[in-house]
Amino acid sequence: MNVPLLDLQPQMSRFRDQVLEAVTSVIDSTRYILGSEVSRFEKEVAAYCGTGFGIGVSSGTDALLASLMALEIGAGDLVLTTPYTFFATMGSILRVGARPVFADIDPDTMNIDPAQVERILADDQAGRKKIRAIMPVHLFGQCADMQPLLELAARYGIPIIEDAAQAIGAQYPLEENGAVTWKKAGAMGTAGCFSFFPSKNLGGIGDGGMVVTSDSGLDRILRSCRDHGADPKYYHRRIGGNFRLDPIQAVVLSIKLPHLEEWHRARRRNATLYREYFSQAGLTDNPVVLPREAYGGLEGAAEVNYHIYNQFVIRVPDRDRLRSFLQENSIGCEIYYPLCLHQQACLAPLGYGDQTFPVAEEAARQALALPIYPELQQEQIAYVVEKISEFF
Ligand SMILES: *Cc1c(COP(=O)(O)O)cnc(C)c1O
Repeated sequence: MNVPLLDLQPQMSRFRDQVLEAVTSVIDSTRYILGSEVSRFEKEVAAYCGTGFGIGVSSGTDALLASLMALEIGAGDLVLTTPYTFFATMGSILRVGARPVFADIDPDTMNIDPAQVERILADDQAGRKKIRAIMPVHLFGQCADMQPLLELAARYGIPIIEDAAQAIGAQYPLEENGAVTWKKAGAMGTAGCFSFFPSKNLGGIGDGGMVVTSDSGLDRILRSCRDHGADPKYYHRRIGGNFRLDPIQAVVLSIKLPHLEEWHRARRRNATLYREYFSQAGLTDNPVVLPREAYGGLEGAAEVNYHIYNQFVIRVPDRDRLRSFLQENSIGCEIYYPLCLHQQACLAPLGYGDQTFPVAEEAARQALALPIYPELQQEQIAYVVEKISEFF
């Protein structure tokens, strides 16, 4: 049996006619930059997330970059983030001339650990006060623990930029005045950043991204930042970039957005099947550690997507050999991520060489992502678990 890590074919076959028609109409309109299709999609995403505004940009990376630029974070500034994420999180910080400060992760969720964040912020406040923002990542489709992070951000008066590239639609139980409201990823911080890279839960037919915010002033600045800092056209009080979303991507994404919740549910159903098969095989906890759902047991959790499973990442000993074994058996799998950010060669000249983050480093040695896409079949999941069982 062949089990690819991701198969985009079923979704594209289902919407192919609609997509061709919509793309053709963009081509025939000869309006190829921004325009009504992009505005409409921005409003749809903002409504989906419960934010006032959405600003379509060229990628998730550029969503992060534009957010940092809009908040005037640059040379001499520090941004607090996780060492265990895709490179773009840190790449965007470095590209505005700022430097990352890392807080180690929580071993259960692999998201940034608020206790570490608190300690680092307290040190910074007592000293040079250079940390200008917190950039948590909602890794693999589950929100970082936003409640304590939002409290810390408010206490120290610094913004949170959510890297929600893997988590559009993921919900977090935020407690306000004693009641729990399930908030969407990206809608809790000052700005939330999404990616429409094809492998994300909402993927385009190329690169795309969006920033969401409920701050109308920031919305205006972000629109300017994505267009060389112009406001109005040809007048530049700031330096932005060309970070615009194409209408061709916007029309495709508009077709797919109404089906996103259904796809999230299918991914969660697949996660449940993995849990059942792993437990039947007697592999859970040892040697296979399954991804932990941090918010699943809470009130109202049954009705929401507290985890959208952009990736289903297990932790295992002997990970590299298991990966080869699965690949030999035609099972797609991937390592997210083999190296932590503080270990990347490009950071070495900046003096990060002797830093260690033991929890993140252990995750980088053990993590393995298994196929989880919505159209995956039950027999395929059973086969993956059967082969992992055979390996151990
Ligand atoms: C995918 C991703 C990005 C970057 O998004 P692109 O659209 O590929 O630029 C940023 N951060 C995280 C955590 C991601 O997974």
